[in-house]
Amino acid sequence: MKTASSPPLSSALSESRSRVRVVLVETSHPGNIGGAARAMKNMGLANLYLVSPHRYPSDRARWRAAGADDVLDEAVVVDSLEAAVAGCGLVVGTSARDRRIPWPLLNPRECGERVVQETSHHDVALVFGREDRGLTNEELQRCTYHVHIPANPDYSSLNLAAAVQVLCYEVRMAALAGENGELPALTGWDVPPARAEDLELYFQHLEQALVDIGFHDRDNPRQTMARLRRLYGRIRLDRMELSILRGVLTAMQNIAHRNRQLKDRVE
Ligand code: SAH
Repeated sequence: MKTASSPPLSSALSESRSRVRVVLVETSHPGNIGGAARAMKNMGLANLYLVSPHRYPSDRARWRAAGADDVLDEAVVVDSLEAAVAGCGLVVGTSARDRRIPWPLLNPRECGERVVQETSHHDVALVFGREDRGLTNEELQRCTYHVHIPANPDYSSLNLAAAVQVLCYEVRMAALAGENGELPALTGWDVPPARAEDLELYFQHLEQALVDIGFHDRDNPRQTMARLRRLYGRIRLDRMELSILRGVLTAMQNIAHRNRQLKDRVE
């Protein structure tokens, strides 16, 4: 989203280097971690986050990194996806196949463009899943967008490091276009997009408010919160809209609280 206050995209290459994170979740094969580091360095990216890797550090990862040791040396190892994306304004999840609840979807080119455009506002994470089963539904629902590499539908799952390569390449192409003033601007907007972290807090607040007014039952949640996340995800709220919505929730909770007090008094 390009806003009135966006800095020019002329620093797109350096911003993509400093503000784009590649997050690998519970990678089993250390060779894939090395391959991902190499793919990132080739494309000018440097921030690798590893969520509970199965075997790491490892010689195999170093060997596959083939000179991208600096990316491995600087890699941040954390124990949750939440920690890996802390501070990020945009989180994009990758998926090799369709999921039960379809999500706002970008193709790799749109993903590269969006990532570079949003680096003028905040850090951005590209999240990759486990070799054997990808990302869980819950992890995917934490993401603002999903991106699918449109591979052969009969054989659509790429090797993890190859998928990292494709998406980092698209980020680089968009950053190069930004340097040349050729990156298409998104529609003009006056307020920056809401940060993923703040959206996460909003969803927690929303769930609590829906419990407070008797609409939502945590013991029988069905797909309510997933569908609401998807609804908000389709419109990419801005920071002002999010703060208004937080205010609405608080007002709802105050009324529910007052009603409960009145009821208690009557009883
Ligand atoms: N069997 C797993 C495939 C995992 S492949 C599954 O069905 O989900 C490991 C990771 O590589 C995926 O989690 C994703 O991050 C990435 N990946 C592989 N193929 C991809 C594709 N076609 N589009 C987007 N990401 C892909």
